[in-house]
Amino acid sequence: MARYTGANCRLCRRSGEKLFLKGPRCYTPKCGYAKRACPPGDHGQNRIKLSNYGVQLKEKQKVKWMYGVLERQFRIYFEKAARTKGVTGRILLQLLERRLDNVIFRMGLASSRVQARQIVRHNFIYVNSHRTNIPSFLVDKDDIIELKAKEKALKKIKENMELSKDRTVPAWLAFNANEIKANVLRLPEKEDSESAIQEQLIVELYSK
Ligand code: SF4
Repeated sequence: MARYTGANCRLCRRSGEKLFLKGPRCYTPKCGYAKRACPPGDHGQNRIKLSNYGVQLKEKQKVKWMYGVLERQFRIYFEKAARTKGVTGRILLQLLERRLDNVIFRMGLASSRVQARQIVRHNFIYVNSHRTNIPSFLVDKDDIIELKAKEKALKKIKENMELSKDRTVPAWLAFNANEIKANVLRLPEKEDSESAIQEQLIVELYSK
């Protein structure tokens, strides 16, 4: 499965905001963006006025990096959103937010989406009592997501939960921390996203 293998902190600096791609480090003063908030590269500190296209591209890249999705898959999500009845940008965000790796991250079982993806790939997650190891699996209303891990992995996941305790679980998930289980109460809305996303810029970009 293809994935981005470059430096994560560069992506935050390129986006102009923290994307929390590196887990615990993101919450410490060692965060690359906290140390240097300008874009990477020799001319990063120069102020460059972006064109409309540049602004739209930047927003799309930010969202893509945030959810850990590559270009081709992101385009597939967009096309699916465009075919679905409703506001395309909102449906696009909903599809991204419904990904199982994102749900595990939002439940606080992982300190980054990369780590959440690993938890899913390692067969620790059950959806409606079925083992589900596909990070891009889309959860649906009324789904029940459970963790079933052996002692060593469970210890690590509990450490992650402790680290993530200040992050709020979104209102569309009813999370039971004792049973490490969540129920999908409804489909996510734009307001449930962690970051302020201008999804209409992405729609404009892809509609050219
Ligand atoms: Fe981004 Fe985390 Fe790196 Fe900070 S530490 S720049 S939030 S990936």
